Amino acid sequence: SQASRVTHETSPSKDDVPVHGLSEVIVGVLGGGQLGRMLCQAASQMAIKVMVLDPLENCPASALSYHHMVGSFDDSATVREFAKRCDVLTVEIEHVDVATMEMLEQQGVDCQPKASTIRIIQDKYLQKVHFCRHAIPLPEFMQIDDLEGAKRAGELFGYPLMIKSKRLAYDGRGNAVAHNEEELSSAVAALGGFDRGLYVEKWAPFVKELAVIVARGRDNSILCYPVVETIHKENICHIVRAPANVSWDIRKHATDVAYKAVSSLEGAGVFAVELFLTGDGQILLNEVAPRPHNSGHHTIESCYTSQFEQHLRAVVGLPLGEPSMKTPAAVMYNILGEDEGEPGFILAHQLIRRVLSIPGATGEPERLKSILKEEGSDCKAAVTPRVGIIMGSDSDLPVMKDAARI
Ligand code: ADP
Ligand code: MG
Repeated sequence: SQASRVTHETSPSKDDVPVHGLSEVIVGVLGGGQLGRMLCQAASQMAIKVMVLDPLENCPASALSYHHMVGSFDDSATVREFAKRCDVLTVEIEHVDVATMEMLEQQGVDCQPKASTIRIIQDKYLQKVHFCRHAIPLPEFMQIDDLEGAKRAGELFGYPLMIKSKRLAYDGRGNAVAHNEEELSSAVAALGGFDRGLYVEKWAPFVKELAVIVARGRDNSILCYPVVETIHKENICHIVRAPANVSWDIRKHATDVAYKAVSSLEGAGVFAVELFLTGDGQILLNEVAPRPHNSGHHTIESCYTSQFEQHLRAVVGLPLGEPSMKTPAAVMYNILGEDEGEPGFILAHQLIRRVLSIPGATGEPERLKSILKEEGSDCKAAVTPRVGIIMGSDSDLPVMKDAARI
């Protein structure tokens, strides 16, 4: 094979790249955050070349990527330039320049999942309209344009009322709850006002939140991972338990809804389907992510094929891997940190040190048994510590302090 010298200063052209891996396809990922980094880790094992596009010079994926192009995934010229260097374009974040993806697709660029999927998902309201049209069960919802509209929604759906921004939401940033009519205007203000584009959802009286990672290959084969339970604190994913401790019927029902939701979208890759389980056994769809997801991190240690390997297999056109669990169970605690210099930075690092001091790195059965007992289960499990950095404020501290229980 020819030697090719590649540096991070000059972007390689795809004709220069020698192939040693499972696929000669060069995967371009829009976004180089934590999920992009974990995609690069999986790609490294498969010797698949992943290029990332991210504006941050030292983004989490940068050092592990085959090539990091520094630039915005929300800028048309940059995305077009990036696409020239890749064989298939995928995403690790849905807030990308989808109009450019659509244009590129028309010119023959291979996007997986399809731009149409990103378009539907990046606007939560559009997403709800789409799934409603496909007869997927979900909480009632309506767009609100002014305070009068919000009040009408409150009368119609009752309180508490969930108000959401349509776009650019993550980790609960983009949701506000109004407990009564008087709280409507402050909740709307907290989301940045009606100009941001808001809608409301009827409160879902859930007893548990569940999630299913669904993978679709380029040949349209679909495989579902085991249903997990996600426990949120202040709208943020705090604990993931796999498999979910629910009856076989509920697991089947949740898997069917997730399968149907993903079947209504186009393109290859993994999709995370977030669901509500209500007291009377209904499954309602919350939202879908068109990419790997924090409810699937446990798959790295606990499943035959991790969600990241699966995503790569899917987008490059390899056969999908077995999604079932190879450990009896797994628990993931989502450890949130803050940026260097913030108080939470130190705390998160202390916490990480504690987690890593647990023998076996992925778990300490004794301590874990007591946690699981507390939560009313007797299954054996492995702990999967994961680290996320949230830039921010003191408001993240309670979540971390609570996670420090482990
Ligand atoms: P994000 O994009 O931040 O994940 P979600 O829309 O998934 O936002 O909401 C985050 C969390 O807020 C959910 O996991 C759930 O705990 C809660 N939540 C969202 N929608 C509703 C609803 N309609 N009723 C009750 N709780 C909700
Ligand atoms: Mg969510």
